[in-house]
Amino acid sequence: MLEQFENIKKEISKDLKNVSDAEALLKVRVKYLGRKDGLITKLFDDLKNWDLAKKKEFGAPLNELKKLAETLVDETEKQFGVTQNTAVDFSVQGTPVLSGHLHPITLIQKEIEKVFWGLGFDIQLGPEIDSDFYNFEALNIPEFHPARDMQDTFYLDLALPKNQPGKHVLLRTHISNMQVRYMKEHKPPYAVVLPGRVFRNEALDASHEHTYQYMEGFVVGKDITYANMAWTLDYVMKEIFGQDVKTKLLPSYFPFVEPGAEMAISCLICKGKGCSVCKQTGWVEILGCGMIHQKVFEYAGYKQGEYQGFAFGFGLSRLAMMKYGISDIRLFAENDLRFLKQF
Ligand SMILES: [Zn+2]
Repeated sequence: MLEQFENIKKEISKDLKNVSDAEALLKVRVKYLGRKDGLITKLFDDLKNWDLAKKKEFGAPLNELKKLAETLVDETEKQFGVTQNTAVDFSVQGTPVLSGHLHPITLIQKEIEKVFWGLGFDIQLGPEIDSDFYNFEALNIPEFHPARDMQDTFYLDLALPKNQPGKHVLLRTHISNMQVRYMKEHKPPYAVVLPGRVFRNEALDASHEHTYQYMEGFVVGKDITYANMAWTLDYVMKEIFGQDVKTKLLPSYFPFVEPGAEMAISCLICKGKGCSVCKQTGWVEILGCGMIHQKVFEYAGYKQGEYQGFAFGFGLSRLAMMKYGISDIRLFAENDLRFLKQF
């Protein structure tokens, strides 16, 4: 009997040496210690039938054999990184998973897109790198026109692709670079908004950035009037800022519209009473707009006087600042989680 125990010991050691993965190891455990047919388990079953003398003689060595087998298998398991007790404790708290979320500028962009979409506007994107033709010339801003100084421009040291009108390559200073492109490819009537980035060569401070998230749009048809523009923009502002917000149009100048205007909304911070944000006026200028200049239609190949339309553009950061009460424009681009987590 003792000889049989010795043989089992040797066999276990040999089997364990040949084990190469956790699966093979489990087979060894089952072979010797398995609850039903394990070799050692079977010996214990036999023990019940032994007489007392035999039990006394072989009981202790059999127990030792079992312990040795367990120790050997456990140690090998450690080598394979298997933990014997694989029960899962479901009451242990897990590591919280941080989920991402949308940037406040993206949130307001999506909200505004939804409003325009509801009014039947098309939503389009355009190139950020463009020629001075589409960014300036086609918008009634010829070379040496003083209006080119109104926007400090990033010019790029790149050659214009063949068949592209213009002289220089630049980072677009507004999304109006899409006006003539879109007009050439579509036949009025149409209404479109274009979200995207624009670039200005400006020094950074609390209210100036070099990269702006912008949205521009225009509507063209045979009978589009200034009143259509006033109604549309007033409707959109009320959808974004609430029905209590007041709007007004002030005269302004942009070379590609005539007449040009700026829309101001009643200050949301002080409700029109006067505060530092609205410079005590109760009004905040929020967007530029106007009736599209016939010169622009000419560049698009439309006949003089055949169509009329209005165009508008606004900075999304400006709107987000008003909507969420943010005082520093630089926060949008700093990637500070303390700021971003609030949205
Ligand atoms: Zn105010």
